Amino acid sequence: MNSIRFQDLGAQQNWIAGGYQNSKSGKTISVVSPYFGKEIATVPDSSLADLDDAVQTAKDAFPDWSLRNIRDRAEVMFNLKSIMERNLEELAHLIALDNGKTVADAKGSILRGKEVVEFATSLPSILKGDSSAVGAGIACTMTHEPLGVVAGITPFNFPAMVPLWMIPLAITAGNCFILKPSEQTPLSALKIAEYLQEAGLPDGVFSVLNGSREAVEGICDHADVKAVAFVGSSNVAKIVYSRSTANGKRALCLGGAKNHMIVVPDADQDSTAKGLLASSMGSAGQRCMAASVAVCVSEVDHIIDQLVEEAKLYELGVDMGTIASKTALDRIIDYIDEAEKMGAKILVDGRDAAPPKTYENGYWLGATILDGVDPDWPCAKEEIFGPVLSIIRTDTLENAMKIENENQYGNAAAVFTTSGEVAKTISESASAGMVGINIGVPVPREPYSFGGWNESKYGHGDITGKSGVDFWTNLKKVTARWPESDEAWKKYF
Ligand code: NAD
Repeated sequence: MNSIRFQDLGAQQNWIAGGYQNSKSGKTISVVSPYFGKEIATVPDSSLADLDDAVQTAKDAFPDWSLRNIRDRAEVMFNLKSIMERNLEELAHLIALDNGKTVADAKGSILRGKEVVEFATSLPSILKGDSSAVGAGIACTMTHEPLGVVAGITPFNFPAMVPLWMIPLAITAGNCFILKPSEQTPLSALKIAEYLQEAGLPDGVFSVLNGSREAVEGICDHADVKAVAFVGSSNVAKIVYSRSTANGKRALCLGGAKNHMIVVPDADQDSTAKGLLASSMGSAGQRCMAASVAVCVSEVDHIIDQLVEEAKLYELGVDMGTIASKTALDRIIDYIDEAEKMGAKILVDGRDAAPPKTYENGYWLGATILDGVDPDWPCAKEEIFGPVLSIIRTDTLENAMKIENENQYGNAAAVFTTSGEVAKTISESASAGMVGINIGVPVPREPYSFGGWNESKYGHGDITGKSGVDFWTNLKKVTARWPESDEAWKKYF
């Protein structure tokens, strides 16, 4: 059972130079639990002076950290893995409290983040470099060098997992990292800072700078920040990417999504209905890998009927957590109202779902399924980021792919079919970075990397896997010719 206890955590601080530090801004941001609709903490709305402090401590820590043996740096990740396992319950409850996930969902997200920690323990092998003879008496050696002070800016929906896409790889590679977590869900970032310290990370290598727009813009502009990774909405991803790269930084900015799941008549009924439901309603639809549009090719009513039946049984607070904020809840309901006015048939109406008694002041919305949606309607084209699945009916696979391909985003796409030929056609023609065949949430597992296409990503490469490691490092190539031994040494040969 999902049991979230209200906690008043008071005034939280930044984590800089290996400990909690007050902000110089004097401004704070209220952190509201979506389970209770009530403030549970405040965090600083950091100023440029706070950013300067974080950057300076990172710069101070960099020479020692970057010169440490990589096996010592990886040792911190081995320790972090055990600490996360030991504190799984604590961290999951904190995520549930500030984000609104169910505890089970929060645990799943931590375990996914932990996979990147585990992958980072293999960096001594991955970053071993290369060396070979390239000419007579000439050798070329290639090493992976850290960049220096780097930063990550993260969204509300996976408060621990998304920062963990970045932190393990960046710091094990030898960088010093500043995290600007979402101001809506900042609490687990501070826990991660404590865990890293317990794992043996030296002071200054990792900082948490709480805040909002000023802190983000400061990071994009700061001369001593060498690289910026961002995950959030496409509008902000685009701004952060252009501002950071205009300032000469390396940037990789992951944005929003509108993922299509294509259902064909030969698909297995039970696993397709369950796959559609889990993908569209899991995390209350607030994940960039959620299926948001089901493109149903020809006659698949038996699958939709089962989907609807099972969606009606979805229980708020048990199968699904809350919407993360009142603003988001209102925005999602507006999309449903608008689709209804435009003529969508509402097969399941989450607006009617009863909130769980203990959390009746929370931001609840049940599973919602809209049928007969036109590909040009806002609910079919724009990112809703809530538990709303739009069904588009079409006659041909070709048309289904056209609908998928024309969407501005390109994070994920999936097909449910028992035909190898259909699966191959869809996976080859989908305009998306991550494709699922009979898998509704096709997140690549480490060491395969995570990242979309089109307006779901600005910048080159992916955020995890080997691609993520490449992002946080520079290649150095040393070409050496050693002089012939002089006469004095010849006698030793
Ligand atoms: P958001 O873009 O509003 O916020 C992300 C970060 O940007 C936060 O840290 C926030 O403080 C900062 N920010 C917000 N507005 C800003 C501005 N005007 N200037 C500078 N900084 C600003 O995103 P969100 O609402 O927290 O998260 C949801 C979005 O994230 C969705 O669009 C979702 O698809 C996306 N997301 C994408 C992925 C992915 O892998 N592609 C993963 C998770 C979430």
